[in-house]
Amino acid sequence: MSSAIIINGNEIGQEIRKSVADRVMKLKDQGVTPGLAVILVGDNPASQTYVRNKQKSCEAIGIFSELIKLPQEVSEEELLNQIRSLNNSENIHGILVQLPLPSHINEDKVIATISPEKDVDGFSPISVGKMMLGQETYLPCTPFGVMKLLEHAGIDIAGKHAVIVGRSHIVGKPMGQLLLQKDATVTYTHSKTPELPSITKQADIIVAAVGRPNFITKEHVKSGAVVIDVGINRDENNKLIGDVHFAEVEQVASHITPVPGGVGPMTITMLLFNTVQSAEKSLSQDK
Ligand code: NDP
Repeated sequence: MSSAIIINGNEIGQEIRKSVADRVMKLKDQGVTPGLAVILVGDNPASQTYVRNKQKSCEAIGIFSELIKLPQEVSEEELLNQIRSLNNSENIHGILVQLPLPSHINEDKVIATISPEKDVDGFSPISVGKMMLGQETYLPCTPFGVMKLLEHAGIDIAGKHAVIVGRSHIVGKPMGQLLLQKDATVTYTHSKTPELPSITKQADIIVAAVGRPNFITKEHVKSGAVVIDVGINRDENNKLIGDVHFAEVEQVASHITPVPGGVGPMTITMLLFNTVQSAEKSLSQDK
């Protein structure tokens, strides 16, 4: 049986990070250090790990990163004021609020308060609206990273049938939009979709963003399809596994992303990319 080509997110991510690091150097030569502010509320261990990884990645390529830690019981107004102050800070080009937030805080309100010029996560209503209209904006990092993986792997998108499994605001929905903009025919599926395998089996490209380990099996996949696994799950031994049953699906797919080492490294890469782009824009606006 044939095995799929593995799309290596570590390698592609590194290549993009190198070019982003070159842009950071050029900005520094012109007196601008790109800056990312990360707001972390409370002490959720997973959020702490994500934030630490983001900071380390910034530092590795010369982006200034500021961590603002707020207590779990911080009021919504205090958090909004913190964001407003970062919106006005000249040293900060990107603002990220690590989700989830405690239940007494309205996440939508918080995200909408981030200035669209600094919304490097691409989650604010203005960024989402612009993306839908195909206007220039910051694209949400995970789907943006998937588009870069497909591009670097030389996958043609135009005219292909892409089936997205999952419809979250941060992955599934924007993923379909970005593929549509590249002229794919897009089908969205979700937990209420009956007979999922009969739909995914028609796909030339499958993007799995479900949050269920080994959910996509060979029964879901047409021979020669490209399979992108966004899922990050832990098995009983605490090992990272995706939403796609890798061992089975690699026997039928033409291309597949592994977990770890597929989509994961691309998300932070695109966050760095967006932050540097914001710093470049601030410089051109000063001129
Ligand atoms: P959500 O939980 O927000 O969304 C999951 C989606 O899967 C929902 O739309 C849900 O449908 C759908 N779903 C659930 N069960 C089924 C089913 N049986 N059949 C079809 N669809 C189903 O998750 P996210 O989008 O935030 O994340 C998805 C996965 O990607 C997670 O494993 C997460 O950890 C990972 N992730 C990885 C990132 C990375 O950097 N690689 C970044 C972000 C997320 P419905 O809407 O009907 O409930």
